[in-house]
Amino acid sequence: MKFFIVNSGSSSIKYQVIESASETVLATGLVERIGEAGGRLKNTAFPGTSDELDSVIEQPIPDHRSGMQLVIATLTDKTDGVICNVAEIGAIGHRVVHGGEDFSGSMRITDPVLQALERNIPLAPLHNPANLDGIRVAMEIFPHVPQVAVFDTAFHQTMPPRAYLYAIPYELYETDRVRRYGFHGTSHRFVAGECARLLGKQLPECNLITVHLGNGCSMTAIENGRSVDTSLGMTPLEGLVMGTRSGDVDPALHLFLKQNKGMELEAIDALLNKESGLKGLCGMNDMRDIHKAAAEGDVRAKLAVEVQTYRTRKYIGAFMAVLGRVDGIVFTAGIGENDPIVRAESLKGLEAFGIRLDPERNWQRSKEARCISAPDSTVRIFVIPTNEELAIAREMAQVLRN
Ligand code: AMP
Repeated sequence: MKFFIVNSGSSSIKYQVIESASETVLATGLVERIGEAGGRLKNTAFPGTSDELDSVIEQPIPDHRSGMQLVIATLTDKTDGVICNVAEIGAIGHRVVHGGEDFSGSMRITDPVLQALERNIPLAPLHNPANLDGIRVAMEIFPHVPQVAVFDTAFHQTMPPRAYLYAIPYELYETDRVRRYGFHGTSHRFVAGECARLLGKQLPECNLITVHLGNGCSMTAIENGRSVDTSLGMTPLEGLVMGTRSGDVDPALHLFLKQNKGMELEAIDALLNKESGLKGLCGMNDMRDIHKAAAEGDVRAKLAVEVQTYRTRKYIGAFMAVLGRVDGIVFTAGIGENDPIVRAESLKGLEAFGIRLDPERNWQRSKEARCISAPDSTVRIFVIPTNEELAIAREMAQVLRN
């Protein structure tokens, strides 16, 4: 069966077609600048018989509906399409950012599910409406194909109240569901499963710390296979230092900036989400550029790496205290998978806790999941490439089986 996996943003649609049994990617692509003057679709097909085929279409794409239709026309194109007929698509999976407290797992999309997604819009006012647009268009175009929602928050619904409550008046939780939700759940769940396999255990037997360091960054404490704490909060701003997001700051910063800089709340929110993190510290948010600048003597670039890796180390310590016994620490996402300097700095000085990197393994380049700890490390350390689309495909297969 072929799965069509959709990640619908406010002006974009990212997609993949996956053959579910063999987990083979048949096509991947991105529609950008929906609703803007010049839209663009880039599709890469993997027909199997020859090398990959890239195609680019540039034309106005007024809305998600026309974007989705363009994708389908491309996928069924006679020369480089990977499907002959839309009827070959057996199920559609949608990445949904916020499931609130309504969803602790992936769900087949029905009217009550759509209503719950609507209800959760206040929790993710930028992301959930765009996800809903994608779902509605797909339901219109494929009325008879099962549609599955896979939530970024669902994996973290197992957190206990002591981890998800903020110490603010309890009524705000009761009336408005103000609490920690956590994100990147599909990625944390996926790499945890792969790590259990490498440890030769079942996931429910494993205590793990999963460290997702990409443009967005988060860390999860996993006890007996279940998320018990995570660094992102009610929104994807809390916790680690990210590409352009601050992570933890003193909440009184808002008042200070208002009183001393005359900034409105919206401007402060934009500052913390778009102008902070690595970018705020050194003007760059791509770790490759930051390392290059640091090697050339840029003091602020060096400082940005220090601040990010110190924060990561601090959270590793906190999550070790949460878990007590840790079987494995997993690094994943763009930085976590590719950056030996950040991995080494994030684990520096933790030898007394049984955490020892093998420097040679840490520096080896590979796209494969691998162990990078020293033989005498009591906590094993792994690099495991995340694969959100494959994770969604696996979730979909599970939902359709039930
Ligand atoms: P992601 O959000 O997982 O796609 O990660 C994107 C980020 O990964 C980029 O902004 C870079 O900072 C980082 N990245 C990608 N490749 C490398 C690399 N080879 N070394 C260091 N950082 C990298």
